[in-house]
Amino acid sequence: MLVIKAGYLIDGVNDGVLENQAVVIEGNKITHICPLDEIEIPADAEVADHLHGYLMPGLIDCHVHLCSPGAADPRPFKDEPEAALAFRAVANADKTLKAGFTTVRNLGSKFDVDIKLKKAIEQDIIWAPRLVASGRCVAITGGHGHGGGIEADGKWEVIKAVRTLVKAGADVIKLMATGGVMTEGVEPGAAELTKEELIFAVAEAHRAGRKTATHAQGNTGIRNAVEAGIDSVEHGVFLDEDIIEMMVEKGTALVPTLSAPHKINAHGIEGGIPKYAVEKSAMLLEQHQESFRAAYKAGVLIGLGTDAGTPFNYHGSNAGELELMVKAGMSPMDAIRAGTHNAAIVLGLDHKIGRLAPGYLADILLVKGDPLKNVGILADTKNIVQVYLGGKPAKV
Ligand SMILES: [Zn+2]
Repeated sequence: MLVIKAGYLIDGVNDGVLENQAVVIEGNKITHICPLDEIEIPADAEVADHLHGYLMPGLIDCHVHLCSPGAADPRPFKDEPEAALAFRAVANADKTLKAGFTTVRNLGSKFDVDIKLKKAIEQDIIWAPRLVASGRCVAITGGHGHGGGIEADGKWEVIKAVRTLVKAGADVIKLMATGGVMTEGVEPGAAELTKEELIFAVAEAHRAGRKTATHAQGNTGIRNAVEAGIDSVEHGVFLDEDIIEMMVEKGTALVPTLSAPHKINAHGIEGGIPKYAVEKSAMLLEQHQESFRAAYKAGVLIGLGTDAGTPFNYHGSNAGELELMVKAGMSPMDAIRAGTHNAAIVLGLDHKIGRLAPGYLADILLVKGDPLKNVGILADTKNIVQVYLGGKPAKV
């Protein structure tokens, strides 16, 4: 038994802070939470004293690319062999865990490296954050993400692609509904998979019990995906009132990934980022933030995602996204919820993670300082005193 004594506790769901709490962990789960003066701690229990700090659920990132290095120019890495991608994914997963992210969803991985990493984690070969993996993305021939993805055109090809990924062990299916910034020669605003293709792909994924996520930046592509019943819109740059209303109604989530364009714009061509990416990113920066604000105001379910692995968007600095969401108008508590309970809903894991409550997995952060006063403190790993993953400490 492990008992964590917490000065302050944020549970990931409810507003406000509980003071002087005891969190009891047995095995990999939280079994009990109560005021410190109501518990008699057994003499043989292990005790972690955090009476001057904050406890919160382990953070969740709904959109990462563990195989990508965050290099300014990704082109030299495009022909790397599978082993190189796998080694990098392991190293990046470790950095991510130590930064306080106990669960990540990897969206798009050449050779299905993420699915293979997940299996290695399940077999206790590697200790890393809980992983939700998509494997290869499904793209149109020559479209955004086609390099490491499955190219599919027409309803039977997308159905076959989804079945192939389910067979490989994908937890979620990533569908490319529009062009994007990082593939040369494709337009972020342009729709790619057609509405019909999206309808068949989503239905096939749901038939197999898998969630779907779409890379979608342009308005028409987002609309196609939402109408097709997609579970989460990634990026969502060009939203409009009508789409936002539909998302609220259908419960479609938004994973904004503000970090990705932010880093590209901050470092620019001088930083070595390809000109085509910098130009495309600059075009959509403002609109992206506006869409985020409008979706937040309207009550769209928002899950934290970074797109970590894109230029200068390093694994282990994922919590910077919280700061960007707050700067764009979200309350600190809602930003924390976006990175805990609401992210767990996006992943369909809200019965297991994203919350400090009895019965939940003991994924817990011990934080120095008050993240509700300044979410920015979470982005500095010095302030992440300890990370528990299933009750086991990640920092020694
Ligand atoms: Zn991405």
